[in-house]
Amino acid sequence: MKVIAVNAGSSSLKFQLLDMPKEIVLASGVIERIGLKDSIFSIKFNDDPHKEIKQIETPKDAVNLLLERLVSLGVVQDLEEIDVVGHRVVHGGEKFSDSVIIDDEVMKAIKDVSDLAPLHNPANLTGIKAFNEALPHAPGVAVFDTAFHQTMGPVEYMYSVPYEWYKKYGVRKYGFHGTSHKYVSLRAAELLGKKPEDTKVIVCHIGNGASLCAVKGGKSIDTSMGFTPLAGIAMGTRSGDIDPAIVQYIADKENKHLDEVIEELNTKSGYLGLSGLSSDSRDLWDAVARGDKKSILAVEKQAKMIADYIGAYYLALEGCDAICFTAGIGENASETRKLIVDRLGALNINLDVERNLARGTETLVSTKDSSVKVYSIPTNEEVMIARDAQRLLKK
Ligand code: ADP
Repeated sequence: MKVIAVNAGSSSLKFQLLDMPKEIVLASGVIERIGLKDSIFSIKFNDDPHKEIKQIETPKDAVNLLLERLVSLGVVQDLEEIDVVGHRVVHGGEKFSDSVIIDDEVMKAIKDVSDLAPLHNPANLTGIKAFNEALPHAPGVAVFDTAFHQTMGPVEYMYSVPYEWYKKYGVRKYGFHGTSHKYVSLRAAELLGKKPEDTKVIVCHIGNGASLCAVKGGKSIDTSMGFTPLAGIAMGTRSGDIDPAIVQYIADKENKHLDEVIEELNTKSGYLGLSGLSSDSRDLWDAVARGDKKSILAVEKQAKMIADYIGAYYLALEGCDAICFTAGIGENASETRKLIVDRLGALNINLDVERNLARGTETLVSTKDSSVKVYSIPTNEEVMIARDAQRLLKK
């Protein structure tokens, strides 16, 4: 069975074509700058990268170009070979606790929760429609970033605010990155040689966006992002948790609208805000090496926030078997892993300096006598999307 896993953003479309159930990647790539000048189409097939710069006006054009290239490059002989399209959808609200085959009702439900993810859900829907038109024989499956966290209990997902906010407007913690947290926690169980039901794992997904998840018996019991992806730990450009009164205070001081301040918390805070230099971890670590004080503050602040969440989740889980680092920074930045784990000494959790040099590989990075195993585990959201698409199509 061939599955194409798709992540359709507002101006980009990432894809991976997989041969299932073997989980072999046949081709992968991204189309960027859709609707802008000089759009870029990149595809990797047979380890051979191929790149084109051309005008791609709409998401529909992007999908058509991608499908046409899959045939002309010989990745598939015929588009009929693609059995199903798996779509990453950011927000499933409270409606979806699992992936689902897309029909008109599901499309409407995704649209209905667009208020909760105004930048993402409409773009995801546009991608779904474009594939429906281009590949009418292939059903679509929606895989939600929020679904994995629907197992949280009310004590975890409710905010302590007027209850009507939840009843009337759905104000609660939803959590994101669920597909990644699920994949990594499953891999951790395999590496531990246990069934997921018998494991307690803390997953730290640290990329540009970043969140932690406490996973008990294979289920999310708490996560650091909240009603929106702004909450939790400091990220590339997002603040993570702050005192909400700051929003009104800065709006008054700077004569700004509340939405402008929220925008700054989303796009000008985190690494970028504190360092004043960059949102990219590599730039920051270069600056740290030069002794740049604000960059040191930025990476240390994030590490403290992550360690604090790990402490809280360690208690919530009543101890844990593994702490797993994933995504761009978690998988690669040994320096960040060290800063975080250095704060966990009270739990007797320790890093092996040599092993921790691992970058982008599945590696046990803790010492032998560490009370909890610490792993670096590259995430793989595409394979999770493909697995769900295959599972639902078979039903
Ligand atoms: P997202 O998918 O949320 O956009 P990623 O998971 O791709 O983000 O993570 C991007 C971050 O990962 C950037 O800050 C980047 O600097 C960092 N990163 C990627 N590769 C490395 C590396 N080899 N060493 C350190 N940081 C890295």
